[in-house]
Formats: sequence, C-alpha cells, structure tokens
Amino acid sequence: MDLKLKLYKPFVAELNRLKEKYGEELAGINGFADYNLNFTDFIDNFVDNNTVADASIDPNANSNNKDITTLERDMVKPHKKLLSYNKLFYEMTKKYGLVESRKWLQAEYTGALLLHDAVDSSFKSYCYSYSLKELVNRGLFFMKGLKTSAPKHLDSYNRFVLNFISYTSNRTNGAVGLPDYLIYSFFFWKKDVEEGRYFTSPEYYRDQNFQSFIYDLNEPYLRVAESAFTNINLFDREYLTAMFGGEEYPDGTFVVDFIEELIAYQKSFMDMIAKVRKETMYTFPVLTYVLLYKDNKFVDEEFARWANKHNMIWYDSNFYIGETVDSCSACYRYTPNFKEIQDHKKNMQEEWLFINSIGGSALNVGSVRVNDLNLNHIANLSVDYDVFKSNLIDYTLTNLKILDTIRRVIKRNVEKGILKIYTYGLIDFNSQYNTVGIASFYECIQYFGGIDIDEFGNHSYNELGIKISEEILNIIKDTIRDFRISENCDYLVNIEQSPNESGAVKMARKDNIILNTNNVIYGNQWIPLQEKCTIWDKAKISAKLDKMCSGGAISHINIDNRFANEDQSWDMLNKLAKLGLIYFAYNTKISVCEDNHAFYGDVCDCGKPKVDEYCRVVGFLTPVSSYSKERKIEYKNRLWFEVE
Ligand SMILES: [Zn+2]
Repeated sequence: MDLKLKLYKPFVAELNRLKEKYGEELAGINGFADYNLNFTDFIDNFVDNNTVADASIDPNANSNNKDITTLERDMVKPHKKLLSYNKLFYEMTKKYGLVESRKWLQAEYTGALLLHDAVDSSFKSYCYSYSLKELVNRGLFFMKGLKTSAPKHLDSYNRFVLNFISYTSNRTNGAVGLPDYLIYSFFFWKKDVEEGRYFTSPEYYRDQNFQSFIYDLNEPYLRVAESAFTNINLFDREYLTAMFGGEEYPDGTFVVDFIEELIAYQKSFMDMIAKVRKETMYTFPVLTYVLLYKDNKFVDEEFARWANKHNMIWYDSNFYIGETVDSCSACYRYTPNFKEIQDHKKNMQEEWLFINSIGGSALNVGSVRVNDLNLNHIANLSVDYDVFKSNLIDYTLTNLKILDTIRRVIKRNVEKGILKIYTYGLIDFNSQYNTVGIASFYECIQYFGGIDIDEFGNHSYNELGIKISEEILNIIKDTIRDFRISENCDYLVNIEQSPNESGAVKMARKDNIILNTNNVIYGNQWIPLQEKCTIWDKAKISAKLDKMCSGGAISHINIDNRFANEDQSWDMLNKLAKLGLIYFAYNTKISVCEDNHAFYGDVCDCGKPKVDEYCRVVGFLTPVSSYSKERKIEYKNRLWFEVE
C-alpha cells in the first residue's frame, strides 16, 4: 500500500532533483527522507531517542516530554512541512515565476535560507503581542459556542487569560506576548478588594492569584503537549504612562491615575516569580524589564534600581533599554483608519517598533514569519567579498519573496475563514511584520577576516569586521526598502538576529555537507557564547549592531560567579546602558534538586543534591537535560565571564 499526496508537479520535480543531487543525509535534515515520511520508521525512531529534541524534525526544548501527545504531533510534521512547501512553491510560482520558486526551494533545501516553523508555514503565522483590553471588556467573545460576558473578578480574569493564551498559542507558532496582563490584573484585584471579595488580606489574595497563574502558565495543557510561550513585560513609570496612561478601565477610571500602584503591583508579581522558583523551577513567562534611558541615566531610577536588585535573585529577566518611549507605544492600538496606517507606514520605513521573538515587545505587534539568511553559507559560496555582496542582495530578495508569499497564503486562510484569530481582531495584519532573520553572522565576519584574537585569546571585531558588519546590515536594510517600494508592500519588514534553537544546528549540518565546512552549531550572538572575549568588546559591538536592527537581537552575558553586591550589578547595568546596548540578559546556571527546587551550587536547602541545571537555551530557561545533543555540546563550550 502506498500513501498518496496530490502535489504540484513542478514542485515534485524540483524536490526530487534536489533529493537526488544532494543525497540521503541532506534529505533527512530537511525532513524529506523516506524514513521521515514513513510513519512506522518515525515512530520507532521517536521511541528509541532519549529526548524529544533529538527525535523531532522541528524540535524545541520546550517540549521535553516523551509522551503520546508529542508523538502524535511530531509524527505528522514531515508531511505538514511537505504540504506547506508545496503550497508555498505553487503560490510563489504564480506570482514570481518558476525560476524564482526553484531558486527559493534550492536555497532553503541546501541551507542558504532557513524558514522558521516551516512545518506550519502555510497554515498560521508566527507571533504576536496582544492587548487584553477586548477580553477585559467583552470576555471570551472569540470562543465559539461558549460566549461569556466580561470578567468581573481577578479569578475569572485569570481564567479568561489562560483560555486566551491557549486559544492564541494553538493558532500561532511563536510567543504570546501579554504586555498589559498586569495592568488589568491590578484593576480586578483592586475591584475585589474594594468589594471585600478577598481572603485573609488583600496582599495574600493578590499573591495567591499570582502564584496559581504562574503555575498554570507552565502547565502543558495550554498547548496540548507543551506549555505556551508567554512574555510579560515590567514597565518603568515612563513607559507605563506613555503606553497605558490614556487607557480607560471598565469602571471609567484611567490607568494614568494608578501609576504608583501599578509599579508596586508589578514588584509584588516579580517577588512571587522569584518565590515560586524556590518551590519549583519553571520556564514561563519570559520576563522583560522595559526601562527608559536618556541623557546618560535611567529616567525612572527608582524602578531601574529595583529591577537591577531583583534580577540578582535568579537573573531571570531581560532588559530592554529604550531611548524613547515611542519604540514601545504603537499607535496601532488606537485603531486608526486605513489611510492613517498607510501614512504611518510610509513614515516608518526606517524605524521599527521593538519586537524580539524571544522576549517582550511593544503592544499589538508581531511577525507573520521569520526567514533566515545563513550568512556564513552565502559567504562560503562567494569567491570574494564583492561577489558576496551581490549574492547577499540576491538571497535577501528571494527571502523577501517567500515571506511575501507566506503572508499572502496566511491572508487567504483568513479569507477562507479558517484563521479566526484574525477575523475576531485578536491579531491585526497591519501590525505584523515580515521578518528577515540573520544567522551565522559572526562566522561570516570571521570568514572575511573581520575577527581578531589578542594574546589572551580574546575575540573581537577589528576595523574591517565592523565595516563589513555595518555593510551587511545596510545591504539587507536597503534591499528591504527597495523591495517594499517596487512591490508596493502594505506591510513592514524587520530584521532580527534569530535565536535559532534548532535552526543553528540544521544550518551548520547542511553547510558541512554542501560546503565542506566543519561546524556543530552556529552562534546566535554578535559574538557567540563559546568564543572567549571581554564583556566590553561584546557589549560595544552589540550596542553598535543592535541599533541597526532595533533591538531584534538579544545579547546574553554569561556570568558564572554572579554579582557580589547590588552596587556592582547596578554599575554594570549603567555601563551597558551607556554603551547603548538595547536588549540583553545576564545568564547564570541555576541548579535544581530532584524535587525541582531552584538553588545555586551543589546542594539544595532541602538537603538533596543537584540533579539538573537550568539555563537559557536560547531565549528562555529550560533544563539542560532537555537540550538537543548539539545544544548540549554548545552549552558545554559556553564561556563564562567572571565579574569583578
Ligand atoms: Zn530541594
């Protein structure tokens, strides 16, 4: 018995040509080898592998459970990917011609480009940062058959938010950003307290609700077999006022009148975040402090100092340091008419709203899909730097064309009525970017001689390296601009340095086959975590290049010994902010015992020894035991700064 799929003939012809030309191993990395597509082989392989990340064609360490639900989901991935590529190839051919779609498939197959969440690329979009305002005012209006009225109390609000997360995360691939979760949580808590509807004390009631919410966020039921990827931001007074000040609560009061209370509320939430880790270590939400830094100082110094101190407990938050509140306050949230959006976009060609797929982001902003340029691949293909530059333009254009195709396919899904997440207005296409990801950036700079090593073994960008880096980012930016003009795009395109949890391995493996390179994994930092360098060289180059992609890159600063005291950490935060670093996090190793208590060192407070370690795999804290085998090697090779 042969299972049949009806596919577009030119697609099948091209895929067969690629499979024949490049052999079984590359077909396997792509998920198109016979053993991938054969369900029985797949099931055997899944059962034999130790971690899900090693068995799946599209792994992430967030799904570390070998379980029937994971098996059911992962076994169809190769077929879903095949169907997605077939659809994209067909649609791309219709708009750009067969030469272009073949160019894309070849680039994707051989590793010059890498499409994120390729399995779902013709089905749904990537990520979004939602406002909960509609949910607060209308309840679960998007649930078919079970309409509710607006939430009235803190517990119903939390329950609705969990429903909302489950609904949205099952209909997208990436993060569910909840920038205003705490803004409304505060409102319902205050209301319950005023109505005497609380137990023990207002603070106890608040903390109990925080605690159960944090536990719930980490339960896999939200996404059937894995927890949903959620982000929560903590804003300083400046951002709180600029972003939410004008918002009206359901009782007619305004957010701006509660800024101090909201600051206190955010702090108590973070206190519970830290406390729960001692009871049981967990991954979500990803937390980001959003702080305004102007004229060489933090404008809201009190909150910045508090954030700095609090972060020293588990080093579990990202820092987004903005120079202006505009980067976070999207004017989209006032739902302007189409003309206004068009005008706004014209003006916005060169500036971006803060968005990063592994951290927080502004309100009502997201990405339809990320497609990476594998820069090291393109460099190795090119005989010299000039040829590289023209190849880069070429691949960027192919990248933009496939992203444009994906956007059209997703739009059609909305028109067909199968993506109601848009129909109900939970996501607005007008505020979703197409994202050009950059990968193997450092390796590319190194290839062209842009990295120096000093007598202590420290790596840094030399003058040539800086020049090439800026040129590369400018070429991508200019190509995006020209494409948007020539294609009359009604959407924005941003650039992000991809976190690439599994993609960094896939690209390296493909390059080893195609280009005879010898890499286990590519870095996802301006200077990779396994390269020896000084904090300052890393910070300086990050600050320079972060600006060119508007925070779409996160610098991880690995510190092994942790800060000795608050002043030392505060001093570092100020130095990094002054250098112009936009988005970064300190990484440290958090131990867990068999009861999953978090602690530092080898023995837990409960007396039991360390059995595992939590560290950011790429963007969020997960147990090292759940990393893929290549990520485990990469982790072992990570270098750690000693702060002094
Ligand atoms: Zn313990």
